[in-house]
Amino acid sequence: MAGWLVLLCALPCLALATPQVGRDYLVTGAPTSEQAPQRHCTPAMRAQLTERVEIPAPPGGWSGAPQAVNVFNVFAGEVRVHHGDREVCGRMHDARTRDSRFRAGIGMVAVPPAGSREPIQVAWSTPLKAGWIPTVRIGAPSPIQQFDTARLLVRTACVAIAIALAFMALMGFLSTRDRVFLGYTLLCTLTVLGQAVLSGLSGYPEPWLPIGDQESRWLVVLSCLGLPVLLYVMWLLTGAARAWRAAGRWPARATVAFCATALLAVWLPQRALSRLATGMDAGFAVGCVAILVLSLAGLRRRRGDALAAIAAVLPFLAMTLMDMADNRTLIEYRVEAIQLAITWFLTVSAYVLNLRLGQLRRQRDEMRALADTDELTGLPNRRAGLKRLEQHMGAARADGGPLAVGFLDIDLFKRINDVHGHAVGDRVLVAVAATLTSAVREPADVIRMGGEEFLVLLPGIGGATARARLDAMRTGVGAAGAALGIEGLAVTASIGLASLTPEDADAASLLRRADEAMYRAKRAGRDRVVEAGSTPDGEG
Ligand code: GH3
Ligand code: MG
Ligand code: MG
Repeated sequence: MAGWLVLLCALPCLALATPQVGRDYLVTGAPTSEQAPQRHCTPAMRAQLTERVEIPAPPGGWSGAPQAVNVFNVFAGEVRVHHGDREVCGRMHDARTRDSRFRAGIGMVAVPPAGSREPIQVAWSTPLKAGWIPTVRIGAPSPIQQFDTARLLVRTACVAIAIALAFMALMGFLSTRDRVFLGYTLLCTLTVLGQAVLSGLSGYPEPWLPIGDQESRWLVVLSCLGLPVLLYVMWLLTGAARAWRAAGRWPARATVAFCATALLAVWLPQRALSRLATGMDAGFAVGCVAILVLSLAGLRRRRGDALAAIAAVLPFLAMTLMDMADNRTLIEYRVEAIQLAITWFLTVSAYVLNLRLGQLRRQRDEMRALADTDELTGLPNRRAGLKRLEQHMGAARADGGPLAVGFLDIDLFKRINDVHGHAVGDRVLVAVAATLTSAVREPADVIRMGGEEFLVLLPGIGGATARARLDAMRTGVGAAGAALGIEGLAVTASIGLASLTPEDADAASLLRRADEAMYRAKRAGRDRVVEAGSTPDGEG
């Protein structure tokens, strides 16, 4: 109640102490004497302009209203928009050279005088490859600019998602050391760079990639690097690597070799680069088909991740089919379509990657369980048993409670093996394990230490009670042997009992005393429980 009162009083005090909003302000930056950062076209730029279109005035001449013109899909060289005495030149990737009102394409707002019939001229350099059809959009400035900004936002979001996925995969690699995660990180990073160049984001807010006027070369090199990495990641992700183990390290080697060859594109002359770019598209289509085939094969083996891999490549395949059919529905949005397809691909693959992470975790848990379990009896093995004993010792020391351990060794077990065969020996071990487990509260408190030796942990139980419990177990062992119904088979066990004392420095010391007591039980004639520190009947 008092706490609530303090809170109720503190909140208004805090509100009163907070400076009032609206009295304060901040001015940053500095006044400038520079003109608008519009780049005018130099003769060198004009010399690059090989393709031209004219946007004719409407039949009655221009209305006098401002006309915005926005050009997309030109990935190499300069773009020039020109009308009357207004002229804009720019490169797609270089934000500094653009009219600040257009961010996704090269744009200009012309104000043709009413009644004038002079067409607006647009010119650009030869496209890098045939599929890239430059598009020009004209209309009222405000909607054209909003549309341009919306496209920039889509492009930015796609790059941001790829960056986030790259980080996620890197974390995955650091925690699992699984190379699929590393391959995926590399793939995401390549797509971040590729998308930045493709979308012109490499120029925002200032050019941050040292690509100069080599944007098309960068695009080709990045795609040449991306394709083999993509195929390799899918090879591992779709489970193909597991299905075709005979391939061994060759896919990894081939990936490295292809990547190394891709770097040669840095020095290729422009014309060869253009051919390579077209070849890359074909290679990419073949790659997608390969992924599809690998995934379909995975689907036949009922792998759930194969379905996701098929979904991942579908947008790319659809785009390839549309190109082959010369369908131009998406031509104007080519950059966004490619980026969204990449984003879809990366996101769906991230889902597959997540499945893999779950699978790796399950495998690790299984391995741990296997490493801690005795195969024949299903009991914890010596390794796990010692850990369990240490836990019990820690707890007993903390709460001052008793702890007893029984070291059980089946008597003359070698003879059982020799007389009845190894298989019967195994059955005896399993039956003894079951009897002992049924006599303790927690099954994990019975441990197979090796061979025909078992350890029974009795937390919270001291001397006399422990002795009685172990004696009951000894009787139970005999009954379990008899229950096997094998003629001439009699199973007995000798048990050494030790209770935790302050002198037991560690688990080994307690075990040693129990083990010694067990050997004394053997010497005293077997089939009995002997407590450490006592004198057994029949000994001496
Ligand atoms: P003692 O009463 O002195 O303990 O005699 P023993 O014969 O039980 O002892 P010994 O150590 O001479 O023999 C243990 C035998 O246990 C030898 C080994 O072949 C057998 N053994 C160990 N592990 C297994 C197993 O997993 N299955 C079977 N069937 N036999 C096992
Ligand atoms: Mg033994
Ligand atoms: Mg034995």
